[in-house]
Parts: sequence; structure tokens; C-alpha cells
Amino acid sequence: MVRKTELGFWSIFILTLITAFVGRSVTLGTEAIHALLDALVVSISAYIIKVVNKRDGMYTYGLHRLEVLSALLNIFTVIIGATLGAVFAVIFLLNRVTDNPYILLLSSLVSLFISLLIVKSGEDEDKNTGILFHAFEDSLVYLIGAVTGLAIVFTKYYFLDPIAAILTIPVILFFSVNVLKNSYYVFMERSPVNVNEVKRDLNQIFKEIDDIHVWNLCNHIRIATLHVRESPDITLSELDKKREMAEDILKKKFDITHVTIQFESDILHEHEF
Ligand SMILES: [Zn+2]
Ligand SMILES: [Zn+2]
Repeated sequence: MVRKTELGFWSIFILTLITAFVGRSVTLGTEAIHALLDALVVSISAYIIKVVNKRDGMYTYGLHRLEVLSALLNIFTVIIGATLGAVFAVIFLLNRVTDNPYILLLSSLVSLFISLLIVKSGEDEDKNTGILFHAFEDSLVYLIGAVTGLAIVFTKYYFLDPIAAILTIPVILFFSVNVLKNSYYVFMERSPVNVNEVKRDLNQIFKEIDDIHVWNLCNHIRIATLHVRESPDITLSELDKKREMAEDILKKKFDITHVTIQFESDILHEHEF
């Protein structure tokens, strides 16, 4: 089944391709190249959504890290698309190839409409793989395009086209910083929460805790491991109750859903420390 978001991206491609030929528009030609790149990447992301939960004897967590990779891939595609647009806009202006500003305005408005539709109708999975964010950034690109088209209609200043196209790049980068940063954090296994705070909260249940590790597998799966030292006389059912309380805190307060606790007893450790 082809998903709605995927369909949206492919329809922008077909639209820009056809109108580029019909209107003999170089701007639309550039947009068609961007749209093709987009549609391919979004299809890859859609494929990732399908395989992400597949587990086997080797990929025991499934393939959730692919979501983070997909988010990065989507941002880079937007950046490549915007850069292509800027390069072509400059080349066209230098060669005195000017587009009909009405075509630029109209095509940008239609693409903007479809992108906004994707942003609005997207599902959770599209968020995890970065498809929604991609559509949001594309909306920015098309919005800038539409405003530029409108400005050229009124002023006849065709040099506004390459200037706007170049300005698009820092705008995209500005909006991407957070996603880039978060993806980097996930890959570096940086803890998404303050581990000292986790320890302080769990200390209400366990007195001696060390080796706490918290990390994100992807945007929606958070894992923690910790070592707890307990009295050798505690019963397993007492320990189970404590463990459940700890898991409850971790889930409710820190959004940690996968927890592994290693219990150690005082006696064994006397030799080690
Ligand atoms: Zn995931
Ligand atoms: Zn795009």
C-alpha cells in the first residue's frame, strides 16, 4: 500500500515535471529535480517504517536506529534540493534565462498546499522517520518561492529569484539545527535525561546504585541499565516489588520503557571493593 505522505511527494514531482515542460519553465525544472530526489528519499523512509519492527536473532532491538538515519537523510535532501535551486537560479539569471513569475508563483503555491497537507495528515511514523519535518521544510522553501514570485510580478526584479533561492539555505539550516543535534545525540548514545536526577529519584527505593546508563534507541524508545546493591537477606518477592516501583518511576517521570537492573549483594562485593 502506498502511503498518503509518499503519494503527496510523488504528486508534487509529477506536477512540477509536467508544468516544467508545458510552461517551458527552468524554475519548475529545478523544482522537479528536487521533488524527484524528495520522493525517492521519502519512499526509502516509508520502507524503513515497514521494516523497523522486524527482529531476528541478530537485530534484537529491531531496526529503530534506521529512523534516526532516515531523519538525517530527509534533512540532507532538503538541503541538497535548496542548494540545487540556488545554483540553478544563479546560472539562469547569469544566462538571462528568466521564468514567467506567474508560473513560479502558481507552482510554489500548489506545492506549498500539498506540503502543508502532508504536514497536517502525517502519522506518528512519519514523524519518527523525519518525513513530516521534511514536508515542513519544503513548505518553507515553497513559501519563499511564492513570495518571490509575487514580488517579481510587482517589481519585475528578476534578480530576486536567485537571492531568495540562496536565502532559503540558511533558513532551512536554522530550522534543522535541533533535529541534527538530536540525531547526533542518539548516535553518540548521550543520555536524554539527567542521570543524576534519575539516581536521586531511584535512591528513594534503592540505597546503593551505580553504573546508570540511559540512552535513546530512536525518538520513541528509551532504555536504561543500572546496578543496584541490596542486602543478601532480601527475598526475591520483596526485590520484585522494589523493582516494579523503580520501573514505574522510570516510565512515568523519564519516559524510559526498557529497563535492565543488575542486582548485587553486599557480601559478594566485599572482596571486590
Ligand atoms: Zn523507533
Ligand atoms: Zn524537499
